Amino acid sequence: MKPADSPHPDIRNFSLEELENYFVSIGEKPFRAIQIFEWIYQKSAWGFGTMANLPKELRERLAKDFLCGPNAIAEKKISQEGTTKFLFDLSDREKIESVLIPTQTRTTACISTQAGCKFGCRFCASGIGGWSRNLTCAEIVTQVLHVKEEALKHQKPLTNIVFMGTGEPLDNFDNLFKAIKIINSNKGIGIGARHITISTVGLVPKIKELAKQNLQIELAISLHGYDNESRNLLMPVNRKYPFDDLVAACREHFKQTKRQITFEYILIKDVTCTAKAVQSLKKSFQGIVCKMNLIPYNPVSEFDHKTPSREEMLEFRNQLEGAGIHATIRTPRGRDVAAACGQLRHDSQKSDKADG
Ligand code: SAH
Repeated sequence: MKPADSPHPDIRNFSLEELENYFVSIGEKPFRAIQIFEWIYQKSAWGFGTMANLPKELRERLAKDFLCGPNAIAEKKISQEGTTKFLFDLSDREKIESVLIPTQTRTTACISTQAGCKFGCRFCASGIGGWSRNLTCAEIVTQVLHVKEEALKHQKPLTNIVFMGTGEPLDNFDNLFKAIKIINSNKGIGIGARHITISTVGLVPKIKELAKQNLQIELAISLHGYDNESRNLLMPVNRKYPFDDLVAACREHFKQTKRQITFEYILIKDVTCTAKAVQSLKKSFQGIVCKMNLIPYNPVSEFDHKTPSREEMLEFRNQLEGAGIHATIRTPRGRDVAAACGQLRHDSQKSDKADG
């Protein structure tokens, strides 16, 4: 059975208002909802038994009505530089991954929004096994709770959230935004909107919808191609939402929100990291206030790509800067624990097949 259909729902699927309504419906005071939020999202309670300021009968009733426990951890890997990757086993045996990325200045949780991915980008491990389902709001926030707990064990409070794990966040819009409300609320996890980034494959109508909402959330666009043709080859979604429409939607987004967009651009030898790419990007990005995040391709055995040399990547970055596009090369983290998008889940699916 899918978690969303469960007769015994996860309490983390409920917004504060919904919980208030629930408490009123059982003859309780609405402030119980705030107490529950504090226990779960601020004091890291994984059950009702420890919620000392709730009457015993109410705790027992809640334990009968709702789930509130931790995820089963299928795997936890810590890389040399402290990047920690979790593979969680969900109630229907779907596996999802989340990553804790500590740096000097911030502590980031990279969170999945779907089990698998529909979009099949031809460099990404997430799409290889196809798409299973959307994650529920509870499954999204529970990942954050696990990563936050791990970060606090190392005295590093969680500061940032990036929706760059498996799946397409804007393809699970409603659950994502319900989860973001809990993550952002000062009664919930309390992470500021400007510290939350949604990364999208480029779903143009959803980007437009996002701009209308005028939230303070950061937007990152997985660009990866430098024109229509090159993007078609790497990202099948480009046939539905072509390069020029995407760039136009980004221009519009900036006009409406005044928020700078980050573009993610994968560096693949002789494919995306070329002089032709620089010329084309220069033309398309004229006047766009943005940051280009250059991501060295992390090899996935199903694809035939190669990572450029350090010198080639630096040269590409310098040429982009020369063309007026602010660009930085992202330091790869956690390669020793397969921390690139979808790799751990994909590796576990491969070994399940080999075992069975
Ligand atoms: N669907 C969303 C979020 C998931 S992918 C999106 O497309 O943005 C998040 C990022 O993972 C992508 O932008 C891509 O840069 C990165 N990624 C995926 N596979 C990669 C690989 N093999 N090497 C380097 N980065 C990769």
